[in-house]
Amino acid sequence: MISLTRRLTLTYALFISLALVVLTFMVNQLTRQIFTGLIKQNITEKSGDVVRVIGEQYNPISRSFDIGAIEAIGMYFIHEGYILAISDEKGGFVWDARSHNMRECTEALEAIAARMEGEFRVSGSFQHQQYPIRYAKQLVGNISIETYGPFFYSETETLFMSSVNRIFLIAGLTFVLLSVIISMLLSRAIARPILKAEEAARQIAALHSSGSGNRQNLKIRLSDRCKTKELAGLSRSINELAHELEEGDRRQKQLVSDIAHELRTPLTYLQGSIEAILDGVWVMDREHLASCHEEIMRIIRLVQDISALTNLEWEYIELDKTDFDLAELLRVTAEQFKAAAYKKGVAITLNLIPTPINADYDRLKQVFINLLSNAVQYTDQGSVAITIEPSSKNRRISITDTGSGIAPDDLPRIFERLYRADKSRSRRTGGAGIGLAIAAAIVSAHGGAISAESGANGSAFRVFLP
Ligand code: ADP
Repeated sequence: MISLTRRLTLTYALFISLALVVLTFMVNQLTRQIFTGLIKQNITEKSGDVVRVIGEQYNPISRSFDIGAIEAIGMYFIHEGYILAISDEKGGFVWDARSHNMRECTEALEAIAARMEGEFRVSGSFQHQQYPIRYAKQLVGNISIETYGPFFYSETETLFMSSVNRIFLIAGLTFVLLSVIISMLLSRAIARPILKAEEAARQIAALHSSGSGNRQNLKIRLSDRCKTKELAGLSRSINELAHELEEGDRRQKQLVSDIAHELRTPLTYLQGSIEAILDGVWVMDREHLASCHEEIMRIIRLVQDISALTNLEWEYIELDKTDFDLAELLRVTAEQFKAAAYKKGVAITLNLIPTPINADYDRLKQVFINLLSNAVQYTDQGSVAITIEPSSKNRRISITDTGSGIAPDDLPRIFERLYRADKSRSRRTGGAGIGLAIAAAIVSAHGGAISAESGANGSAFRVFLP
């Protein structure tokens, strides 16, 4: 597979080179076109000059041309690429370059033809132009000028055109080389953050999947001070991913250590009790067995709660929805806690209105069991109130108590797994800090929300169901 840097370099270099080649070609063509126009004009002007200079060699007294001068002019123009043939007004022979020196004429014209066809790819032929020679407006003769057509470059012009072509070629090659270098630099600048992001993502994935080793390296972060918006966004997303994984890792460790801690307490008690019985310090009576049984039940409850919560949090919760009256569900649930509340001298009051709902009956019952058991557990005097608040949009159920309340520092964390506000008291009441996490997971699976408020006069839990 081709690397990103190489692909970008190739694309840029190809694109820029192509653009430069086309541009150079167009400028070259344009220059050549303009130059050719000038050359054609120059040839016409020079032909005019030849006619004028030859005309000046006419002597009106002898009514003849100065042959010596014409010969000198004719010979000079052979080397310029102009082959002259002069006749008098009646068409009689005066002077002809070819008759005078055929070899020089042929050599001069062949050299021009070779130059034009070989170097400039202009194929043409030898062309004759006829001009009248006048003296005082009187026709005194005719001149035929033979040149290579449609146009030709003199030696100096050939030198100039060759230099221009060479300059264009060198400039074109330099630009192509520069474009390759610029493309490489540009590609590297674009690819560098992407490659860094890819490397970081790979490292994070490798560290995370390794399961052990130095998880500290999950602290890898990319700089998001990149000037390109999308690349800065990519770096930020990877940083967020690394942060999430780090958080998940931390929570996982915390959970394992919390579970170990929760298990250690009853297990240490059981170990101590059994050793005491084995050593004969304790007698194996009903009272000791009952306390061991209570600790075993605590372990069983904890394992059941953790497994229920894990299922709720990690699996897609499939709700078995039916139509029922929420008020009826709350009444039945409250009934289960009446005896326990009565024992503590706590009253349970119901403010219910018929509220039809389509939801998972058993799971919602679990929510209210958890909320009510907490309310009764943490309330030593006063009352626990269950209310359905009238609302047109959603179902709002509140469970308020006049209990000990929750400290402001603990309030935001009570829905976390295994979080307990007061460890010693909860140990007494037997909770492991899972009930509210289970309730929150069930309510959120129904698309609802759960919130808690607390003060000196007790706590209030509100459940919103759509
Ligand atoms: P637990 O099984 O320990 O009760 P929960 O997840 O149900 O676990 O509750 C978490 C913590 O929130 C409890 O340990 C307790 O400190 C606090 N809490 C919950 N409900 C109440 C309440 N009604 N009054 C006072 N504290 C409460």
